[in-house]
Amino acid sequence: MAMGKTRAAGPRQGGSGNTRRADLVLRRLVEEFRSGRITETISKVDFLRDPRDNRPCMSWSLKNRVLMVGQGTFDARNVAQWNRVNRRVIARRSAIYIIRPLHAYSCASCAKGAARGARLRYARSARLFECRTCGLSVAPSAIRGGSDPAVLRRIRGFGCQPEFRVEDTVGDALPEYAPARPPPLHGVAKKWGIHVKYQVDPSGSSLGSYEARSNTIHLGTESPWVFFHEISHAADSMVLARSGRALKGGQDPVQEAVAQLSACVLSEMYGMGSTRAHTRDYLRAQARGTGERELVRLALDVLDRVEGVLGLILSTAQGSGAAAESGQEDGHRGDGARAGKIRGH
Ligand SMILES: [Zn+2]
Ligand SMILES: [Zn+2]
Repeated sequence: MAMGKTRAAGPRQGGSGNTRRADLVLRRLVEEFRSGRITETISKVDFLRDPRDNRPCMSWSLKNRVLMVGQGTFDARNVAQWNRVNRRVIARRSAIYIIRPLHAYSCASCAKGAARGARLRYARSARLFECRTCGLSVAPSAIRGGSDPAVLRRIRGFGCQPEFRVEDTVGDALPEYAPARPPPLHGVAKKWGIHVKYQVDPSGSSLGSYEARSNTIHLGTESPWVFFHEISHAADSMVLARSGRALKGGQDPVQEAVAQLSACVLSEMYGMGSTRAHTRDYLRAQARGTGERELVRLALDVLDRVEGVLGLILSTAQGSGAAAESGQEDGHRGDGARAGKIRGH
């Protein structure tokens, strides 16, 4: 059954040539830029294509994928598309909106003379688009195809298209997203029985998370750096467990510093670029307002834990299975050797 509500389309037009709702949706895009959040959102959007990935959004423009992810999902479809994969929209869930161009069509020969009447108008009775000046008439299918040389097409504004988030549907399970190129060290996660799930964080606040209880890493991006950060949390959790300790819930400054620094080292080792500047800013922000003695204690604790984390990850990567596996699957054959070098530091 097709369900779920789409709010009424509302008054058609604002002064911009856009529908009012499109103006609201476009403001969301502007806000992404103004807040700088676009840098995070785009790294979520920029998923490499899984060859088996047949989500309809894969054929959308970048701006619409940014809008989709900004509204908290990696998969939005219309009701018919959901029904086709045996899922239905949960009652009373609202649509999210993406934008689509609204076109104006004019008669190519009359427009040359700059005639104001060159605009093609739809005549309901004839079911044709007509030019009042020269009497040209064109079938709607030819107009929308955009290939008829007698018709000029331009974008006059934007309208909205409602879509429903996968999170607002129920039904048959969907294939789980797997990146075309898994991150280096994914073999380590596999060896530790960690379930790596690619999914937008519903709260929209983070690019990734590690949940110790379910031993699951959620990734909202294919950036290897985020994976390194989360697997460092997992390793930290294992190291802590040896002394009867455990990760704290939420964002604990010490455990974040541990994951951040470990990921920074791993990133450089695996040739994924430096995240030093980012890490430095992060640590400075964490240290602000902390007293001198407290900072010393913090630094010592963090460094001990980073050592434990890197030791555990790299020894697992080099051990039988995980290292060979990740080397073959990722094309990072040099990893083992480089890992060995770092361990001597
Ligand atoms: Zn004409
Ligand atoms: Zn973290």
